[in-house]
Amino acid sequence: MKVVLTLDELRSAKSDLLSPLGLVPTMGFLHEGHLSLVKQAKVECKSVGVSIFVNPTQFGEGEDLEAYPRDLPRDLRLLEEEGVDLVWVPTIEDVYPTDSQTWVVVEELTKRLEGEQRPGHFRGVTTVVTKLFNAFQTDRAYFGQKDAQQALVIQRMVKDLLLPIEIVVCPIVREEDGLAMSSRNAYLNPEQRRAAIVLHHALGDAAERFKNGERDAGVLRRSMLAVIQDEPLARVQYVSVADPDTLEEAQGEIQRALLSMAVYLGDTRLIDNEMLGID
Ligand code: AMP
Repeated sequence: MKVVLTLDELRSAKSDLLSPLGLVPTMGFLHEGHLSLVKQAKVECKSVGVSIFVNPTQFGEGEDLEAYPRDLPRDLRLLEEEGVDLVWVPTIEDVYPTDSQTWVVVEELTKRLEGEQRPGHFRGVTTVVTKLFNAFQTDRAYFGQKDAQQALVIQRMVKDLLLPIEIVVCPIVREEDGLAMSSRNAYLNPEQRRAAIVLHHALGDAAERFKNGERDAGVLRRSMLAVIQDEPLARVQYVSVADPDTLEEAQGEIQRALLSMAVYLGDTRLIDNEMLGID
């Protein structure tokens, strides 16, 4: 496994790789969720690249950019074990040249849910992902359904900008009790960790109601809210039942929906989601 730091090093290392190349963009502090993307890329591609970069432009003011957990030696060990070919750990300067002033913006899909709560977040994501795509000149890129809106936004961007890249979205990997794996779970103290299961419970409860015939978006939304509000350590930021394509909030009867939520446990903001009516 080759580990490179500069863009020049990346470009020359890339020329040794077989096609198709699969890229897994990450912010590091890797867990089984990230590794599931790597494993999928290994199955489908002749070579696999991973980027590890805590992208400052996708963090808002007062968010956890400085505190974001990092452990590069461990990350590299895990990637080596997975048989990754190339890892890029770029410097800020390589990704954002001095005086850089170019942004990639997906206009509509980013107005809701995470985009509404985290202004500028998706502008940072789409810009950095475009740069990673350009740097790696990848054939495929792997993203997690854990960040459902991010996956949709990137698929939209790739389509809109005619990028010759196939986007593969992989299922959410969960801890044994159902908590979606996240680098941010490391922030939770033991009581918060125990309480964090409430996101999965709320989604599971709504999914069960849907399975049993409940089709009213408002009822499903309120049922998720009630489950979360039952957990004293949890504070809801939003709970959504949305159209899975447009992300518009659903009203009345639904056949398909993206259930999603952002919930605080103390200062830690967790997100989770589940698709209804889609195999
Ligand atoms: P991050 O390092 O948080 O930027 O995540 C990098 C990639 O891993 C993104 O495409 C995430 O959606 C994906 N990812 C993070 N957590 C999970 C998970 N629990 N299951 C599947 N994919 C995940």
